[in-house]
Amino acid sequence: MSFQKLLIKTAKLSPVKQFKHASILTKGGAILAVDYNGNFYHAEANVLKQLWPSKIKGTTMINIRITQTGIGMSRPCKNCLNLMKLMGVAKVIYTGRDGKNVMERVR
Ligand SMILES: [Zn+2]
Repeated sequence: MSFQKLLIKTAKLSPVKQFKHASILTKGGAILAVDYNGNFYHAEANVLKQLWPSKIKGTTMINIRITQTGIGMSRPCKNCLNLMKLMGVAKVIYTGRDGKNVMERVR
């Protein structure tokens, strides 16, 4: 299954009606953790909670957001970016306003 398919499938599991977000944490093409947003935690935080901190350094977070009209902007919020930086996530790939992937270094 491609990352994109897995992200869409995972985002659909979110109990939040307004927006469904999914994150995958990868390293060297391998998937370390997958999760979606809940009512209290964002998908990125849910993913990071699954792993020992030592496993997170140098990873890439991949995000997607599904809205009622299609794929939405899924750039991590400030809190998640701070958390990712703290935990040593190196890069994030998220869907931009046009639905295309954007890559950003976490800093
Ligand atoms: Zn967030």
